[in-house]
Amino acid sequence: MRTKTIQDLVHLDGRRVLVRVDFNVPLRDGQVADDHRVRAAVPTLISLLSRGARVLCASHLGRPGGTEVPALSLSPVADVLSSHLKRRVTFISPCVGPRAESRAAALPAGEVALLENVRFEPGETENDGVLAARLAALADAYVNDAFGTAHRAHASTEGVARLVRPAVAGALMEREVRCLTRVLEPDHRPYVAVLGGAKIAGKIDLIEHLIPRVDHLLIGGAMAYTFLVARGVPVGRSLVDRARVRLAGQLLTRAEEEGVRIDLPVDHVTRSSLTAGSCGITSGAEIAPDELGGDIGPRTVERFAGILSGAGTILWNGPLGAFEHEGFESGTRAVAEAIRSGPGYSVVGGGDSAAALRHLGVEEGFDHISTGGGASLAFLSGQTLPGLAALEQV
Ligand code: ADP
Ligand code: MG
Repeated sequence: MRTKTIQDLVHLDGRRVLVRVDFNVPLRDGQVADDHRVRAAVPTLISLLSRGARVLCASHLGRPGGTEVPALSLSPVADVLSSHLKRRVTFISPCVGPRAESRAAALPAGEVALLENVRFEPGETENDGVLAARLAALADAYVNDAFGTAHRAHASTEGVARLVRPAVAGALMEREVRCLTRVLEPDHRPYVAVLGGAKIAGKIDLIEHLIPRVDHLLIGGAMAYTFLVARGVPVGRSLVDRARVRLAGQLLTRAEEEGVRIDLPVDHVTRSSLTAGSCGITSGAEIAPDELGGDIGPRTVERFAGILSGAGTILWNGPLGAFEHEGFESGTRAVAEAIRSGPGYSVVGGGDSAAALRHLGVEEGFDHISTGGGASLAFLSGQTLPGLAALEQV
């Protein structure tokens, strides 16, 4: 079984195709501040347009809460899309209703329109059936290329997909599923997962799902301190999830029982606060009572890098330090270097992980950097994504 994709679509000439894209871009002074999500949608749109489809793009932007918020209008995105597609983009507002239907019907073959923010409609996040039907009334075919919202059952991601046939995945969605599946069913071993980030709470399902699959778990970031405390190591004022220390201990035991090797940091970069003071390096895993750990230390980096350079498959989720703060970025940078210069098949998942790579300027060389934060975590945790499940299978 696989999800149908735009390659499975035939007879597109003159047909109206509703494409759920992810144009949830940052705006500054009414302008698009970062257009990488718009650029990412171009291959799917060009593929449909070149086959004569009439393309209607739908997206959310921010959280207007079911009402029209002018500052969250998608209209600035229409110009950016137009420049990337090198063709006119009609802007349709509101996104549904008789006017939207007549304008969609009037769109010439091979032309594209952008609908206003779907979250201006009250029923979008509630997956309201009436809104889904009004979206469905615009289209003869549906394509979902918004992986980042696929873990939410909304009217424009799930409801409408059940009402329009064909309903298929776009090129971005297809790539996400293919690459993330490769790290759930790895061809090449050893399989090493690197986990970091701030909180263990949102990643328990992920860790539980990975334990039977991976050969080696490397744990860094703030998450490591909860595990260190579970092993009885003092970590000073570092971020610890006290309520989950026992659970962390149980996960360590389970991993050991399954034969998974686990590496926690053996040293740290510390400071008296995340933001100020001078950095120190601990001599071991222990952190002094008045210090906090902000990054993995140099001996840990060396260990992690050595393990990663021999890995066949690598999944990385979560920065290894508080990389936004000066002095705490080297662990994340060094691990990125080790992964991208090594031979392993590498996938990065998680919103802040992708942001960290962008921030450090080390995005090249990975096999896949997921565009979905919550969606990639949900997928890698083995959950069914409603936006994906609603598409047709072959
Ligand atoms: P992702 O979105 O990739 O899943 P998370 O949201 O779990 O990642 O965590 C990202 C955050 O973790 C970053 O803001 C980073 O500053 C923080 N972080 C990483 N290591 C530490 C640390 N040692 N102390 C405090 N915060 C940390
Ligand atoms: Mg995050």
